[in-house]
Amino acid sequence: QRFSTAAVLEEPITPPVQINYTKLLINGQFVDSASGKTFPTLDPRTGEVIAHVAEGDKEDINRAVSAARKAFDEGPWPKMSAYERSRIMLRFADLVEKNIQELAQLETWDNGKPYQQALTAELPMFVRLFHYYAGWADKIHGLTVPADGPHHVQTLHEPIGVAGQIIPWNFPLLMFAWKVGPALACGNTIVLKSAEQTPLTALYVAKLFHEAGLPEGVLNIVSGYGPTAGAALASHMDVDKIAFTGSTETGKIILELAAQSNLKPVTLELGGKSPFIICEDADIDRAVELAHFALFFNQGQCCCAGSRTYVHEKIHDEFIAKAKARALKRTVGDPFKKEIEQGPQIDSEQFQKVLGYIKSGIDSNATLECGGERFGSKGYFIQPTVFSNVKDEIFGPVQSILKFKDIDEVIRRANASRYGLAAGVFTSNIDTANTMSRGLRAGTVWVNCFDVFDAGIPFGGYKMSGIGREKGVYSLSNYLQVKAVVSPLKNP
Ligand code: ADP
Repeated sequence: QRFSTAAVLEEPITPPVQINYTKLLINGQFVDSASGKTFPTLDPRTGEVIAHVAEGDKEDINRAVSAARKAFDEGPWPKMSAYERSRIMLRFADLVEKNIQELAQLETWDNGKPYQQALTAELPMFVRLFHYYAGWADKIHGLTVPADGPHHVQTLHEPIGVAGQIIPWNFPLLMFAWKVGPALACGNTIVLKSAEQTPLTALYVAKLFHEAGLPEGVLNIVSGYGPTAGAALASHMDVDKIAFTGSTETGKIILELAAQSNLKPVTLELGGKSPFIICEDADIDRAVELAHFALFFNQGQCCCAGSRTYVHEKIHDEFIAKAKARALKRTVGDPFKKEIEQGPQIDSEQFQKVLGYIKSGIDSNATLECGGERFGSKGYFIQPTVFSNVKDEIFGPVQSILKFKDIDEVIRRANASRYGLAAGVFTSNIDTANTMSRGLRAGTVWVNCFDVFDAGIPFGGYKMSGIGREKGVYSLSNYLQVKAVVSPLKNP
């Protein structure tokens, strides 16, 4: 059951992009960290250092928050016309489009994801998202409320203030867009902490934002580690809102830090164990392909990965044979090569974790259908792996296939999880699709598709997968305060 591709990786391709931005971006200036410390960001293909990046800590967060505070309280951003804000966001999106290849190269280099994916999916989605929120900027308005007494009542929808944003490494640019887009459209200022594994692209795009005319202090980027820089941001008394994407364990810490400091409102987008359910009436070949994509996309490193593949018993055995054949065909290697579908895992920690989970899968008597080992001899590559007869599933390029008999049973089993981020249903029966869509307790249900992430579609979790929604109109409320203004009517 060995993986078929020769386990030899050629010399990694060095992308032509230069790394120009490695300092912290505070108040419109690139600056060293207060401590002078740096940390290395590594190439997941080899484990070698790409660049040394300024390491932000509490003092740098303090500096960044005071810049954002000043830009909010005194600066032009929340006060300038919404149309002008919108135009700056559109100019920024144009600059990103102009630099799309360099940005995609940098994203692949730092993260290990396929270059084609970064170039043709993630960067265009990034641009689209800023177009979308630029469109909202001048359409945010309150209501007039019919009051019982002789009063004129209106609501003002105001920006919430200084937003702290903490993002993960699996989609560095997209997570930046989901957070920064709505916050800026609503007129807030920002301190963003990027993930320590992938600090490079946030600095690059933030530089482009300033070129597009963003006033200084509106968007500050602090690279650094979670328990230092991240915790300082979440517990800062002068940060008015915190938005976080990452693990459920860290999400709990963020909520605690917010509560212990100034009760800043929190939105959390956390982990999942998303079910992907394939019914007996499904077209098997399409279902195999979609379930493969739902799990293996982005090296299996999606919070919403379809990690529990439930297959109806009537088609179970055929599905496994085909899912295994598909996994064996998956091309693994240097993500800069065009034909490569899967690059390395993000870092040695995730790499060891996934290999450990695979081992515990084997130890728990799940059937290893294919893969199960490291791919190559350097970097963090793992063979696409398929298990059947599984009890618990795994974050990484590891598909776990389970068998079910009927719809009520599979809904029950799919919902028997502390998480509720997403779910997929594959069926040609409209009644089954409707029953499942309503029965599944998850923030997104994809029917006969998966991982569709348009800017207007809200995303977020039920249960321990999070609090609140990002994207779409729903994300605006994360970044707005509602003020009721009441005045007596002179001549009622
Ligand atoms: P992952 O498993 O995806 O790495 P984490 O939750 O550890 O998830 O990381 C997501 C983001 O949260 C990163 O930017 C990381 O630096 C940050 N982070 C980790 N620990 C903390 C913490 N204690 N306080 C604030 N931020 C943190």
